Amino acid sequence: MSLTTSQHKSLSKLFPAGRLFTKPEQCIAYSYDNSRLQQIPAAVVLARSEADITAIVAWCYSNEIPLTCRGRGTGTTGAAVPEVGGVVLSLEQMDQIIRVDPANRVIVVEPGVTNQAVQDAAAEHGFFWPPDPTSSAFCSVGGNLGCNSAGPRAVKFGSVRENTLGLRAVDGTGAIFSTGCYTTKGVVGYDLTRLLIGAEGTLGIITEATLKLQPLPDQKQMLRLLFDSVHTAAEAVAAIMAQPVIPYSLELMDGKAINMIRDYANLELPDNAKALLLVEVDGGSATINDAVSAIERAATNSGLVEIFHAQTDEQQAQLWRTRKALSPALRTVAPKKINEDIVVPVASIPHLIEQLELIETHHAIQIVTFGHAGNGNLHVNLLIDPNNPDQMVSAEKALDEIFRLTLKLNGTLSGEHGVGRVKREHVAREIDPVALRLMQAIKAQFDPKHILNPSTTLPLHSEIQSR
Ligand SMILES: Cc1cc2nc3c(=O)[nH]c(=O)nc-3n(C[C@H](O)[C@H](O)[C@H](O)COP(=O)(O)OP(=O)(O)OC[C@H]3O[C@@H](n4cnc5c(N)ncnc54)[C@H](O)[C@@H]3O)c2cc1C
Repeated sequence: MSLTTSQHKSLSKLFPAGRLFTKPEQCIAYSYDNSRLQQIPAAVVLARSEADITAIVAWCYSNEIPLTCRGRGTGTTGAAVPEVGGVVLSLEQMDQIIRVDPANRVIVVEPGVTNQAVQDAAAEHGFFWPPDPTSSAFCSVGGNLGCNSAGPRAVKFGSVRENTLGLRAVDGTGAIFSTGCYTTKGVVGYDLTRLLIGAEGTLGIITEATLKLQPLPDQKQMLRLLFDSVHTAAEAVAAIMAQPVIPYSLELMDGKAINMIRDYANLELPDNAKALLLVEVDGGSATINDAVSAIERAATNSGLVEIFHAQTDEQQAQLWRTRKALSPALRTVAPKKINEDIVVPVASIPHLIEQLELIETHHAIQIVTFGHAGNGNLHVNLLIDPNNPDQMVSAEKALDEIFRLTLKLNGTLSGEHGVGRVKREHVAREIDPVALRLMQAIKAQFDPKHILNPSTTLPLHSEIQSR
Protein backbone atom coordinates (compact mmCIF):
# COMPACT_ATOMS: atom_id res chain seq x y z
CA MET A 1 0.00 0.00 0.00
CA SER A 2 1.50 3.36 -1.01
CA LEU A 3 0.79 6.95 0.02
CA THR A 4 -1.93 8.93 -1.78
CA THR A 5 -0.78 11.73 -4.07
CA SER A 6 -1.77 14.39 -1.56
CA GLN A 7 -0.03 12.54 1.30
CA HIS A 8 3.10 12.26 -0.82
CA LYS A 9 2.93 15.96 -1.60
CA SER A 10 2.50 17.06 2.01
CA LEU A 11 5.29 14.74 3.22
CA SER A 12 7.63 16.01 0.49
CA LYS A 13 7.14 19.52 1.85
CA LEU A 14 8.43 18.35 5.25
CA PHE A 15 11.41 16.28 4.10
CA PRO A 16 13.73 16.77 1.09
CA ALA A 17 14.22 13.95 -1.42
CA GLY A 18 17.47 12.67 0.17
CA ARG A 19 15.68 12.14 3.48
CA LEU A 20 12.37 10.82 2.19
CA PHE A 21 12.13 7.50 0.36
CA THR A 22 8.92 6.22 -1.16
CA LYS A 23 10.10 3.85 -3.89
CA PRO A 24 10.09 0.16 -2.88
CA GLU A 25 13.70 -0.28 -4.00
CA GLN A 26 14.70 2.55 -1.62
CA CYS A 27 12.47 1.37 1.22
CA ILE A 28 13.48 -2.31 1.18
CA ALA A 29 16.55 -1.72 3.36
CA TYR A 30 14.18 -0.50 6.10
CA SER A 31 11.71 -3.37 5.78
CA TYR A 32 13.22 -6.00 8.12
CA ASP A 33 15.29 -6.59 11.21
CA ASN A 34 17.21 -9.59 12.51
CA SER A 35 13.93 -11.52 13.08
CA ARG A 36 13.84 -11.92 9.28
CA LEU A 37 10.22 -10.72 9.25
CA GLN A 38 9.71 -8.24 6.46
CA GLN A 39 7.23 -5.59 5.31
CA ILE A 40 8.14 -2.88 2.83
CA PRO A 41 6.89 0.47 4.19
CA ALA A 42 5.05 3.12 2.18
CA ALA A 43 7.73 5.67 3.12
CA VAL A 44 10.97 6.08 5.04
CA VAL A 45 11.96 9.33 6.69
CA LEU A 46 15.51 10.02 7.90
CA ALA A 47 15.35 12.42 10.86
CA ARG A 48 18.19 14.77 11.71
CA SER A 49 16.64 16.62 14.65
CA GLU A 50 13.96 16.50 17.30
CA ALA A 51 12.00 18.97 15.14
CA ASP A 52 12.05 16.41 12.28
CA ILE A 53 10.70 13.76 14.65
CA THR A 54 7.92 16.03 15.87
CA ALA A 55 7.02 16.85 12.27
CA ILE A 56 6.75 13.25 11.09
CA VAL A 57 4.86 12.05 14.17
CA ALA A 58 2.38 14.95 13.87
CA TRP A 59 1.98 14.16 10.15
CA CYS A 60 1.31 10.47 10.86
CA TYR A 61 -1.09 11.47 13.65
CA SER A 62 -3.16 13.71 11.39
CA ASN A 63 -3.10 11.20 8.52
CA GLU A 64 -3.66 8.22 10.88
CA ILE A 65 -0.72 6.37 9.38
CA PRO A 66 1.26 3.90 11.51
CA LEU A 67 4.83 4.88 12.33
CA THR A 68 7.67 2.50 13.15
CA CYS A 69 10.74 3.96 14.76
CA ARG A 70 14.00 2.32 13.73
CA GLY A 71 17.49 2.45 15.19
CA ARG A 72 19.80 0.14 13.24
CA GLY A 73 17.43 -2.79 12.72
CA THR A 74 19.45 -5.39 14.66
CA GLY A 75 16.52 -6.34 16.92
CA THR A 76 15.53 -10.00 16.89
CA THR A 77 11.76 -9.77 17.44
CA GLY A 78 10.40 -7.75 14.51
CA ALA A 79 9.90 -4.67 16.70
CA ALA A 80 11.38 -2.42 13.99
CA VAL A 81 9.48 -4.10 11.14
CA PRO A 82 7.00 -1.61 9.64
CA GLU A 83 3.24 -1.89 9.21
CA VAL A 84 1.44 -2.37 5.91
CA GLY A 85 1.20 1.13 4.40
CA GLY A 86 3.20 2.55 7.30
CA VAL A 87 6.10 4.96 7.61
CA VAL A 88 9.54 4.12 9.00
CA LEU A 89 11.27 6.84 11.00
CA SER A 90 14.99 6.08 10.86
CA LEU A 91 17.19 7.68 13.49
CA GLU A 92 20.51 6.56 12.01
CA GLN A 93 21.50 10.18 11.19
CA MET A 94 20.86 11.40 14.75
CA ASP A 95 24.13 9.95 15.99
CA GLN A 96 25.77 12.74 17.96
CA ILE A 97 27.29 12.57 21.41
CA ILE A 98 25.94 15.77 22.86
CA ARG A 99 28.02 15.93 26.03
CA VAL A 100 30.32 13.84 28.22
CA ASP A 101 30.22 15.10 31.81
CA PRO A 102 32.78 13.10 33.84
CA ALA A 103 32.26 15.06 37.08
CA ASN A 104 28.63 13.95 37.14
CA ARG A 105 29.33 10.56 35.51
CA VAL A 106 26.88 11.37 32.73
CA ILE A 107 26.84 11.17 28.93
CA VAL A 108 24.07 12.82 26.89
CA VAL A 109 23.48 11.37 23.43
CA GLU A 110 21.22 11.38 20.40
CA PRO A 111 19.31 8.11 19.91
CA GLY A 112 20.96 6.99 16.66
CA VAL A 113 24.48 6.83 18.09
CA THR A 114 25.87 3.29 18.30
CA ASN A 115 26.45 1.66 21.65
CA GLN A 116 30.15 1.31 20.72
CA ALA A 117 30.51 5.04 20.01
CA VAL A 118 29.14 5.73 23.50
CA GLN A 119 31.63 3.27 25.03
CA ASP A 120 34.51 4.88 23.10
CA ALA A 121 33.54 8.43 24.10
CA ALA A 122 33.09 7.41 27.75
CA ALA A 123 36.39 5.47 27.79
CA GLU A 124 38.32 8.62 26.87
CA HIS A 125 37.31 9.89 30.33
CA GLY A 126 37.84 6.58 32.15
CA PHE A 127 34.18 5.49 32.12
CA PHE A 128 31.85 3.02 30.43
CA TRP A 129 28.09 2.63 29.98
CA PRO A 130 27.18 -0.82 31.37
CA PRO A 131 24.67 -2.09 28.72
CA ASP A 132 26.85 -4.14 26.35
CA PRO A 133 24.86 -6.19 23.83
CA THR A 134 27.02 -8.37 21.60
CA SER A 135 25.77 -6.22 18.72
CA SER A 136 27.27 -3.06 20.28
CA ALA A 137 29.27 -2.11 17.17
CA PHE A 138 26.07 -1.91 15.11
CA CYS A 139 23.07 -1.29 17.37
CA SER A 140 21.90 2.18 18.45
CA VAL A 141 21.33 3.54 21.93
CA GLY A 142 17.72 4.23 20.86
CA GLY A 143 17.31 0.52 20.11
CA ASN A 144 19.01 -0.37 23.42
CA LEU A 145 16.51 1.90 25.22
CA GLY A 146 13.60 0.57 23.18
CA CYS A 147 14.38 -3.04 24.09
CA ASN A 148 16.07 -2.57 27.49
CA SER A 149 18.96 -4.44 25.90
CA ALA A 150 21.80 -5.76 27.94
CA GLY A 151 24.73 -8.10 27.86
CA PRO A 152 27.20 -9.86 30.14
CA ARG A 153 27.78 -6.87 32.44
CA ALA A 154 24.12 -6.77 33.51
CA VAL A 155 24.87 -9.26 36.28
CA LYS A 156 26.82 -6.57 38.13
CA PHE A 157 25.46 -3.28 36.81
CA GLY A 158 21.90 -3.97 35.65
CA SER A 159 20.36 -3.26 32.27
CA VAL A 160 19.43 -0.02 30.47
CA ARG A 161 16.75 0.84 33.03
CA GLU A 162 19.30 0.90 35.85
CA ASN A 163 21.73 2.99 33.79
CA THR A 164 19.57 5.78 32.37
CA LEU A 165 18.81 8.98 34.24
CA GLY A 166 16.47 10.79 31.90
CA LEU A 167 15.06 11.08 28.39
CA ARG A 168 13.53 13.51 25.95
CA ALA A 169 10.82 12.05 23.78
CA VAL A 170 7.97 12.76 21.39
CA ASP A 171 4.57 11.19 22.09
CA GLY A 172 2.09 9.79 19.56
CA THR A 173 0.60 13.21 18.86
CA GLY A 174 3.95 14.90 18.15
CA ALA A 175 4.31 16.62 21.56
CA ILE A 176 7.77 16.81 23.17
CA PHE A 177 8.28 15.86 26.82
CA SER A 178 11.13 15.16 29.26
CA THR A 179 11.42 12.40 31.84
CA GLY A 180 13.67 11.70 34.82
CA CYS A 181 16.46 14.04 35.87
CA TYR A 182 20.17 14.71 35.52
CA THR A 183 20.99 13.43 39.00
CA THR A 184 21.34 9.91 40.41
CA LYS A 185 18.58 10.59 42.94
CA GLY A 186 15.16 12.03 42.15
CA VAL A 187 11.56 11.14 42.94
CA VAL A 188 9.36 13.86 41.48
CA GLY A 189 6.45 12.49 39.49
CA TYR A 190 5.93 9.03 38.01
CA ASP A 191 8.94 7.21 36.56
CA LEU A 192 8.28 7.73 32.86
CA THR A 193 11.93 6.98 32.07
CA ARG A 194 11.59 3.34 33.05
CA LEU A 195 8.23 3.19 31.30
CA LEU A 196 9.65 4.34 27.96
CA ILE A 197 12.62 1.97 28.29
CA GLY A 198 11.57 -1.43 26.97
CA ALA A 199 8.40 0.00 25.38
CA GLU A 200 9.77 -0.82 21.91
CA GLY A 201 8.76 2.51 20.43
CA THR A 202 5.08 2.03 21.29
CA LEU A 203 4.77 4.97 23.71
CA GLY A 204 7.04 7.60 22.21
CA ILE A 205 10.14 8.29 20.16
CA ILE A 206 13.19 8.95 22.32
CA THR A 207 15.06 11.97 20.97
CA GLU A 208 17.80 12.31 23.59
CA ALA A 209 19.11 10.17 26.45
CA THR A 210 21.01 11.06 29.61
CA LEU A 211 22.97 7.96 30.51
CA LYS A 212 24.67 7.06 33.78
CA LEU A 213 28.35 6.11 33.50
CA GLN A 214 30.51 3.80 35.60
CA PRO A 215 34.28 4.08 36.10
CA LEU A 216 36.30 1.58 34.05
CA PRO A 217 37.54 -1.19 36.34
CA ASP A 218 41.00 -0.81 37.78
CA GLN A 219 41.79 -4.45 36.98
CA LYS A 220 39.90 -7.38 35.52
CA GLN A 221 40.66 -11.08 35.62
CA MET A 222 38.93 -13.72 33.55
CA LEU A 223 38.43 -17.38 34.29
CA ARG A 224 37.23 -20.24 32.15
CA LEU A 225 35.76 -23.04 34.24
CA LEU A 226 35.00 -26.42 32.68
CA PHE A 227 32.50 -28.86 34.17
CA ASP A 228 31.63 -32.49 33.53
CA SER A 229 27.94 -31.63 32.99
CA VAL A 230 25.69 -28.66 32.53
CA HIS A 231 24.06 -29.60 35.83
CA THR A 232 27.25 -29.12 37.85
CA ALA A 233 27.96 -25.89 35.94
CA ALA A 234 24.45 -24.62 36.77
CA GLU A 235 24.99 -25.50 40.43
CA ALA A 236 28.25 -23.52 40.35
CA VAL A 237 26.38 -20.49 38.94
CA ALA A 238 23.89 -20.58 41.83
CA ALA A 239 26.76 -20.97 44.34
CA ILE A 240 28.71 -18.04 42.84
CA MET A 241 25.67 -15.79 43.03
CA ALA A 242 24.99 -16.85 46.64
CA GLN A 243 28.31 -15.41 47.92
CA PRO A 244 29.18 -11.71 48.32
CA VAL A 245 31.52 -11.07 45.33
CA ILE A 246 29.40 -10.13 42.32
CA PRO A 247 31.19 -11.12 39.11
CA TYR A 248 31.65 -8.53 36.37
CA SER A 249 30.18 -11.12 34.01
CA LEU A 250 29.10 -14.76 34.30
CA GLU A 251 28.32 -16.65 31.09
CA LEU A 252 27.37 -20.30 30.60
CA MET A 253 27.57 -22.66 27.61
CA ASP A 254 26.15 -26.16 27.57
CA GLY A 255 27.88 -29.19 26.00
CA LYS A 256 26.26 -28.75 22.60
CA ALA A 257 27.33 -25.12 22.49
CA ILE A 258 30.88 -26.21 23.34
CA ASN A 259 30.89 -28.82 20.56
CA MET A 260 29.68 -26.21 18.13
CA ILE A 261 32.52 -23.82 18.83
CA ARG A 262 34.98 -26.72 19.04
CA ASP A 263 34.25 -27.20 15.34
CA TYR A 264 33.68 -23.56 14.41
CA ALA A 265 36.53 -21.87 16.29
CA ASN A 266 39.03 -24.77 16.59
CA LEU A 267 38.72 -24.73 20.36
CA GLU A 268 40.84 -27.32 22.14
CA LEU A 269 39.12 -28.53 25.29
CA PRO A 270 39.36 -31.81 27.23
CA ASP A 271 36.85 -34.45 26.11
CA ASN A 272 35.16 -34.54 29.53
CA ALA A 273 34.32 -30.81 29.34
CA LYS A 274 30.54 -30.83 28.96
CA ALA A 275 29.80 -27.27 30.11
CA LEU A 276 31.73 -24.05 30.41
CA LEU A 277 31.52 -20.91 32.53
CA LEU A 278 33.26 -17.67 31.62
CA VAL A 279 33.65 -15.47 34.67
CA GLU A 280 35.12 -11.98 34.84
CA VAL A 281 36.04 -10.41 38.17
CA ASP A 282 36.95 -6.75 38.62
CA GLY A 283 38.60 -4.87 41.47
CA GLY A 284 41.63 -2.97 42.68
CA SER A 285 45.10 -4.53 43.05
CA ALA A 286 44.59 -4.95 46.81
CA THR A 287 41.33 -6.88 46.50
CA ILE A 288 41.07 -8.62 43.15
CA ASN A 289 42.97 -11.80 44.03
CA ASP A 290 40.74 -12.37 47.06
CA ALA A 291 37.66 -11.79 44.90
CA VAL A 292 38.87 -14.34 42.32
CA SER A 293 39.60 -16.88 45.10
CA ALA A 294 36.08 -16.39 46.49
CA ILE A 295 34.57 -17.09 43.05
CA GLU A 296 36.78 -20.18 42.61
CA ARG A 297 35.80 -21.53 46.02
CA ALA A 298 32.10 -21.03 45.29
CA ALA A 299 32.38 -22.67 41.86
CA THR A 300 34.23 -25.74 43.08
CA ASN A 301 32.00 -28.78 43.15
CA SER A 302 32.36 -32.47 42.28
CA GLY A 303 31.91 -31.72 38.56
CA LEU A 304 34.65 -29.10 38.17
CA VAL A 305 37.13 -30.32 35.54
CA GLU A 306 39.50 -27.39 35.09
CA ILE A 307 40.00 -23.70 35.86
CA PHE A 308 41.95 -21.66 33.33
CA HIS A 309 43.10 -18.12 34.19
CA ALA A 310 43.41 -15.85 31.15
CA GLN A 311 46.77 -14.19 31.85
CA THR A 312 46.91 -11.62 29.06
CA ASP A 313 44.53 -9.22 27.35
CA GLU A 314 44.85 -11.37 24.23
CA GLN A 315 43.83 -14.52 26.15
CA GLN A 316 40.81 -12.66 27.56
CA ALA A 317 39.88 -11.40 24.11
CA GLN A 318 40.23 -14.97 22.76
CA LEU A 319 37.79 -16.28 25.39
CA TRP A 320 35.27 -13.59 24.45
CA ARG A 321 35.72 -14.39 20.77
CA THR A 322 34.84 -17.98 21.64
CA ARG A 323 31.62 -16.86 23.32
CA LYS A 324 30.75 -14.48 20.50
CA ALA A 325 31.38 -17.18 17.88
CA LEU A 326 28.33 -19.04 19.15
CA SER A 327 25.57 -17.13 17.39
CA PRO A 328 27.15 -17.36 13.92
CA ALA A 329 28.11 -20.99 14.59
CA LEU A 330 24.48 -21.83 15.34
CA ARG A 331 23.42 -20.42 11.99
CA THR A 332 25.74 -22.88 10.23
CA VAL A 333 24.42 -26.07 11.87
CA ALA A 334 20.68 -25.78 11.28
CA PRO A 335 18.60 -24.09 8.60
CA LYS A 336 16.59 -22.26 11.29
CA LYS A 337 16.99 -21.49 14.97
CA ILE A 338 14.29 -20.28 17.30
CA ASN A 339 16.26 -18.17 19.74
CA GLU A 340 14.46 -17.53 23.03
CA ASP A 341 15.89 -15.48 25.87
CA ILE A 342 14.03 -16.65 28.92
CA VAL A 343 15.01 -15.72 32.46
CA VAL A 344 14.59 -17.72 35.65
CA PRO A 345 15.76 -17.00 39.18
CA VAL A 346 19.42 -18.07 39.33
CA ALA A 347 18.79 -20.77 41.92
CA SER A 348 16.30 -22.39 39.50
CA ILE A 349 18.80 -22.76 36.62
CA PRO A 350 19.74 -26.36 37.57
CA HIS A 351 16.05 -27.37 37.53
CA LEU A 352 15.44 -25.49 34.26
CA ILE A 353 18.38 -27.31 32.62
CA GLU A 354 17.08 -30.73 33.75
CA GLN A 355 13.63 -29.97 32.36
CA LEU A 356 15.02 -28.61 29.07
CA GLU A 357 16.76 -31.95 28.54
CA LEU A 358 13.47 -33.79 29.04
CA ILE A 359 11.70 -31.44 26.60
CA GLU A 360 14.48 -31.96 24.05
CA THR A 361 14.20 -35.74 24.26
CA HIS A 362 10.41 -35.79 24.32
CA HIS A 363 10.04 -33.61 21.20
CA ALA A 364 13.20 -34.77 19.42
CA ILE A 365 14.30 -31.16 18.88
CA GLN A 366 17.93 -30.21 19.37
CA ILE A 367 18.20 -27.48 22.01
CA VAL A 368 21.43 -25.51 22.55
CA THR A 369 21.61 -23.37 25.67
CA PHE A 370 24.01 -20.60 26.59
CA GLY A 371 23.85 -17.08 27.95
CA HIS A 372 24.00 -14.65 30.78
CA ALA A 373 23.70 -17.17 33.60
CA GLY A 374 24.50 -14.67 36.35
CA ASN A 375 21.12 -13.04 35.64
CA GLY A 376 19.40 -16.37 35.00
CA ASN A 377 19.01 -15.17 31.39
CA LEU A 378 19.53 -18.09 29.04
CA HIS A 379 19.40 -18.14 25.27
CA VAL A 380 17.55 -21.36 24.54
CA ASN A 381 18.00 -22.16 20.85
CA LEU A 382 15.74 -24.68 19.15
CA LEU A 383 17.49 -25.91 15.98
CA ILE A 384 15.02 -26.88 13.30
CA ASP A 385 14.45 -27.43 9.62
CA PRO A 386 11.55 -25.19 8.50
CA ASN A 387 10.90 -27.54 5.57
CA ASN A 388 10.11 -30.39 7.93
CA PRO A 389 6.44 -29.85 8.98
CA ASP A 390 6.59 -32.48 11.76
CA GLN A 391 9.60 -30.76 13.26
CA MET A 392 7.86 -27.37 13.10
CA VAL A 393 4.89 -28.77 15.04
CA SER A 394 7.22 -30.34 17.60
CA ALA A 395 9.11 -27.06 17.96
CA GLU A 396 5.85 -25.21 18.70
CA LYS A 397 4.99 -27.74 21.39
CA ALA A 398 8.49 -27.63 22.86
CA LEU A 399 8.37 -23.84 22.94
CA ASP A 400 5.01 -23.89 24.67
CA GLU A 401 6.43 -26.19 27.36
CA ILE A 402 9.55 -24.05 27.76
CA PHE A 403 7.43 -20.93 28.32
CA ARG A 404 5.13 -22.77 30.76
CA LEU A 405 8.14 -24.04 32.68
CA THR A 406 9.77 -20.58 32.76
CA LEU A 407 6.66 -18.96 34.23
CA LYS A 408 6.22 -21.81 36.72
CA LEU A 409 9.75 -21.15 37.94
CA ASN A 410 8.82 -17.50 38.56
CA GLY A 411 10.73 -16.40 35.49
CA THR A 412 9.98 -14.13 32.54
CA LEU A 413 9.64 -14.81 28.81
CA SER A 414 12.23 -12.27 27.67
CA GLY A 415 15.27 -10.88 29.43
CA GLU A 416 16.66 -8.57 26.75
CA HIS A 417 15.37 -9.23 23.24
CA GLY A 418 11.88 -7.93 24.01
CA VAL A 419 8.45 -8.89 22.72
CA GLY A 420 8.19 -7.24 19.31
CA ARG A 421 5.91 -9.05 16.92
CA VAL A 422 7.17 -12.56 17.55
CA LYS A 423 6.27 -12.88 21.22
CA ARG A 424 3.21 -10.66 21.43
CA GLU A 425 0.80 -13.59 21.46
CA HIS A 426 2.49 -14.91 24.61
CA VAL A 427 2.38 -11.70 26.66
CA ALA A 428 -0.95 -12.49 28.31
CA ARG A 429 0.55 -15.71 29.68
CA GLU A 430 2.85 -13.63 31.86
CA ILE A 431 1.00 -10.36 32.54
CA ASP A 432 -2.28 -10.60 34.44
CA PRO A 433 -5.47 -9.11 32.91
CA VAL A 434 -5.65 -6.13 35.26
CA ALA A 435 -2.02 -5.16 34.62
CA LEU A 436 -2.63 -5.57 30.88
CA ARG A 437 -5.67 -3.33 31.05
CA LEU A 438 -3.61 -0.67 32.84
CA MET A 439 -0.91 -0.98 30.19
CA GLN A 440 -3.46 -0.54 27.40
CA ALA A 441 -4.74 2.59 29.15
CA ILE A 442 -1.18 3.94 29.43
CA LYS A 443 -0.63 3.26 25.73
CA ALA A 444 -3.82 5.20 24.90
CA GLN A 445 -2.56 8.21 26.89
CA PHE A 446 0.77 8.33 25.07
CA ASP A 447 -0.56 7.33 21.66
CA PRO A 448 -4.29 8.11 21.37
CA LYS A 449 -4.57 7.12 17.70
CA HIS A 450 -2.53 3.93 18.19
CA ILE A 451 -0.05 4.81 15.44
CA LEU A 452 3.26 4.01 17.19
CA ASN A 453 4.42 0.46 16.37
CA PRO A 454 0.82 -0.80 16.70
CA SER A 455 1.59 -4.49 16.01
CA THR A 456 4.30 -4.64 18.63
CA THR A 457 4.61 -5.45 22.32
CA LEU A 458 1.10 -5.31 23.81
CA PRO A 459 -1.69 -7.63 22.66
CA LEU A 460 -4.82 -5.80 21.49
CA HIS A 461 -7.99 -5.75 23.66
CA SER A 462 -9.61 -8.18 21.21
CA GLU A 463 -6.68 -10.59 21.43
CA ILE A 464 -6.82 -10.59 25.23
CA GLN A 465 -10.60 -11.09 25.33
CA SER A 466 -10.43 -14.00 22.89
CA ARG A 467 -8.06 -15.96 25.12
C1 LIG B 1 24.51 -10.42 16.28
C2 LIG B 1 23.54 -9.84 17.28
C3 LIG B 1 23.83 -9.90 18.62
C4 LIG B 1 22.93 -9.38 19.55
N1 LIG B 1 23.26 -9.44 20.87
C5 LIG B 1 22.43 -8.91 21.79
C6 LIG B 1 22.76 -8.95 23.17
O1 LIG B 1 23.81 -9.43 23.56
N2 LIG B 1 21.88 -8.42 24.04
C7 LIG B 1 20.71 -7.84 23.62
O2 LIG B 1 19.96 -7.36 24.47
N3 LIG B 1 20.37 -7.79 22.33
C8 LIG B 1 21.20 -8.30 21.39
N4 LIG B 1 20.85 -8.25 20.07
C9 LIG B 1 19.59 -7.62 19.67
C10 LIG B 1 19.69 -6.11 19.24
O3 LIG B 1 20.98 -5.81 18.79
C11 LIG B 1 19.32 -5.20 20.39
O4 LIG B 1 17.95 -5.36 20.72
C12 LIG B 1 19.55 -3.70 20.08
O5 LIG B 1 19.32 -2.94 21.24
C13 LIG B 1 18.66 -3.16 18.95
O6 LIG B 1 19.18 -1.91 18.55
P1 LIG B 1 18.82 -1.31 17.12
O7 LIG B 1 19.41 0.05 17.04
O8 LIG B 1 19.21 -2.24 16.06
O9 LIG B 1 17.26 -1.20 17.25
P2 LIG B 1 16.11 -1.60 16.23
O10 LIG B 1 16.17 -3.06 15.94
O11 LIG B 1 16.15 -0.68 15.07
O12 LIG B 1 14.83 -1.28 17.10
C14 LIG B 1 14.53 -2.05 18.23
C15 LIG B 1 13.32 -1.45 18.94
O13 LIG B 1 13.67 -0.20 19.53
C16 LIG B 1 12.78 0.80 19.08
N5 LIG B 1 13.53 2.05 18.99
C17 LIG B 1 14.64 2.31 18.28
N6 LIG B 1 15.01 3.58 18.45
C18 LIG B 1 14.10 4.14 19.29
C19 LIG B 1 13.92 5.45 19.83
N7 LIG B 1 14.76 6.43 19.56
N8 LIG B 1 12.85 5.68 20.62
C20 LIG B 1 11.98 4.69 20.92
N9 LIG B 1 12.10 3.44 20.44
C21 LIG B 1 13.15 3.17 19.63
C22 LIG B 1 12.27 0.32 17.74
O14 LIG B 1 11.03 0.92 17.41
C23 LIG B 1 12.14 -1.16 18.02
O15 LIG B 1 10.95 -1.40 18.70
C24 LIG B 1 21.71 -8.78 19.12
C25 LIG B 1 21.42 -8.72 17.75
C26 LIG B 1 22.32 -9.24 16.84
C27 LIG B 1 21.99 -9.15 15.39
